[in-house]
Amino acid sequence: MSGEPVGEGARRRRVAENLHALRERVRVASEKAGRAADDVTIVAVTKTYPARDVRILADLGVRDIGENRDQEAAAKAEQCRGLDLRWHFVGQLQTNKARSVARYADVVHSVDRVRLVRALGARARDAGRELSCLVQVSLDPGSDVGVLGPRGGTHPSDAAAVADAIAAESGVTLGGVMAVAPREGDPAGAFDRLYAVASTIRDRYPQATVISAGMSGDLEMALAHGATHLRIGTALLGERSPNVG
Ligand SMILES: *Cc1c(COP(=O)(O)O)cnc(C)c1O
Repeated sequence: MSGEPVGEGARRRRVAENLHALRERVRVASEKAGRAADDVTIVAVTKTYPARDVRILADLGVRDIGENRDQEAAAKAEQCRGLDLRWHFVGQLQTNKARSVARYADVVHSVDRVRLVRALGARARDAGRELSCLVQVSLDPGSDVGVLGPRGGTHPSDAAAVADAIAAESGVTLGGVMAVAPREGDPAGAFDRLYAVASTIRDRYPQATVISAGMSGDLEMALAHGATHLRIGTALLGERSPNVG
């Protein structure tokens, strides 16, 4: 194709290979877990990678794109307008960024406090949009003291209250739960705790079916423990440079 940046074709082939390999991993892991691979959504986390990678992914049939920083996400969403993508905000979110995120995000995975629910609801209404919100649960051991620690997330015992707040707020809908596996300790046990929280919430809100868990390194385990949405960066796009993202 004329006008392509140098290396564009090679990049496209690389991302296509990665996507193919990823889908195969998801297929095998789903089969092992007795689940249908079609029921699993891959969210491609494109943080630190340029909008042209998002375009390549879209060309390859990936519709769900994840970002963890508002400034970067807003710019990419703007550059990729018209591609019919669903934007997932997966990073820690300050209340003062709610206005911006409400303009482009379709799903916010990192909702971990009532104040943020209110801000997102108000900003979504201002923008005439509706955001699906996931309750981010902290699975870090010792999260009794570490709530809103470096990676965010509400203590499991407070997750239902955040879910109630989302369900009660107009402009936002309750999609389910999200977590990042703990850096230490047993990830299987952690994903089990997330599943238990998800089940409690789903008993009350049957539409809250999403369990966003699993990244490049632990997607098999997450799938074995009920994940419906995987957030995948490295396995699709390669290692990110250190000190960013
Ligand atoms: C970066 C990021 C991911 C993707 O992680 P990989 O290990 O690169 O697949 C998933 N979830 C969150 C919240 C992230 O910030």
